[in-house]
Amino acid sequence: MEITRQKFLVAASAALLIPQVELAAAKSTTISMLPASKTRRIAWTIDDGASSSAIASYLDIAEKGEQRLTFFVTSSYPSWREHSKKISRLLDAGKIQLGNHTVKHRDLTTISQSEIRKELSGCHKFLLEEFGYDARPYFRPTYGSTNETVRSVAAELGYTVPTMWYGSFGDTSNVAESRILQFAGKWIVNGRIIIDHANRMKSKHCLDQIQSIIRARGLHSVTLTEAFGKNFK
Ligand SMILES: [Zn+2]
Repeated sequence: MEITRQKFLVAASAALLIPQVELAAAKSTTISMLPASKTRRIAWTIDDGASSSAIASYLDIAEKGEQRLTFFVTSSYPSWREHSKKISRLLDAGKIQLGNHTVKHRDLTTISQSEIRKELSGCHKFLLEEFGYDARPYFRPTYGSTNETVRSVAAELGYTVPTMWYGSFGDTSNVAESRILQFAGKWIVNGRIIIDHANRMKSKHCLDQIQSIIRARGLHSVTLTEAFGKNFK
């Protein structure tokens, strides 16, 4: 098992170092909704990871298996490494997905091309080394801030899918949980990609209520790969 993972890491790292013409030429496709489907579904996506205990509570939700979660990892937060074993297990079980949300959460539209590259490839490398996981093609621009330069540098690295959102739990600042639940009630709608953050602990009550809303609307949360398929086009 260990050898297999090690081999995979070597192969995956090599893949990133070899200039890939198709990748470089790949067009960027920004998404904020899931493709149409007969299944009623949303993608519950969780960003950053400043709070280790918040990440733990989301991992518990994913472990139960009813709601699949996509985490956009900011790799400079130590919390991700603290949950390394559980994250690897849930990845293997297909219950979670990881996306690239840079190393230091800098606004990519305000830095040079080489700095953009460093932010994205640094997080990419972390996910490969820590979890044996290749997060391409999904990345989430920090602050939702993006432009042609950011998209093209990201695409050259294989991050061809800037993943935006169509609905938020409004928790970027320290808001009351009643407010978060109002946002949840407003934005949990079929087909949406919804943004949430693991930067502050939400109470069990709050997280249970969010899941109740999803359930009551006949929805369930899927990973992006489940919705878009293994070969995103
Ligand atoms: Zn963020």
